[in-house]
Amino acid sequence: MTWEEIAGHDKTRFVPILPIGATEAHGPHLPLSTDVIIAQAMAEHGATLLNASGYVAQVLPPLAYTSAGFAGGFAGTISLQPETETALIVDIGRGLASHGIQQLICANAHLDPTHIAAIYAAAKTLESSTALRVVFPDITRKPWALRLSDEFKSGACHAGSYEGSIVMAARPDLVRDAIRATLPANFSSLSQAIRAGKRTFEEAGGPRAYFGDPAAASADEGRETIATLGQILHDAFIEMRPATPQR
Ligand SMILES: [Zn+2]
Repeated sequence: MTWEEIAGHDKTRFVPILPIGATEAHGPHLPLSTDVIIAQAMAEHGATLLNASGYVAQVLPPLAYTSAGFAGGFAGTISLQPETETALIVDIGRGLASHGIQQLICANAHLDPTHIAAIYAAAKTLESSTALRVVFPDITRKPWALRLSDEFKSGACHAGSYEGSIVMAARPDLVRDAIRATLPANFSSLSQAIRAGKRTFEEAGGPRAYFGDPAAASADEGRETIATLGQILHDAFIEMRPATPQR
């Protein structure tokens, strides 16, 4: 959009969606930008659904650098300090609020606990210091997690079937498919490892930076998951704003 298009919009209907990913190792078969690709696909599908519900949803340029300490030991991972990340999201939200925008949806695809805490901290600061309402459906928690795949719910869900399928659907050109097909499943649960106090993929039992079953991934599963993720964004927003906008 141009600035005049944004300036002219009814601010009660205008809904920016910020895709939040990471630049982080995702096994030997998926790109470092995997979470950015997932967040963008989630945001674009959510925008389509919100537009059909009478809002004017727009996908913002994605946040590609966040806190990614678990993958810090793998080449190419770039991890921000959590306070840097929080400040970045707060500044983006303040920028929106300064133009009268009333709401922001965070489409987050990166599951590092330090990173998720950084988003919560930013949302809290924005809601207490601006008029912006922040909608952040945290897919690692109920009720949203219950809508996702068994692999996702098992916690063995980094660069496995769940994430690999989405990249196969959204950016098949970036998947190293010959390598993917040969990878043995790794059912070590990252969420259990996190609860047990582990701090890195290596400690959590993922020596090649993947968890789950990469070989089981498919573009069909990816399309289904993108649809579910978009619906989660839509529903989280509608639940926060029950009033139907005027068309
Ligand atoms: Zn990921």
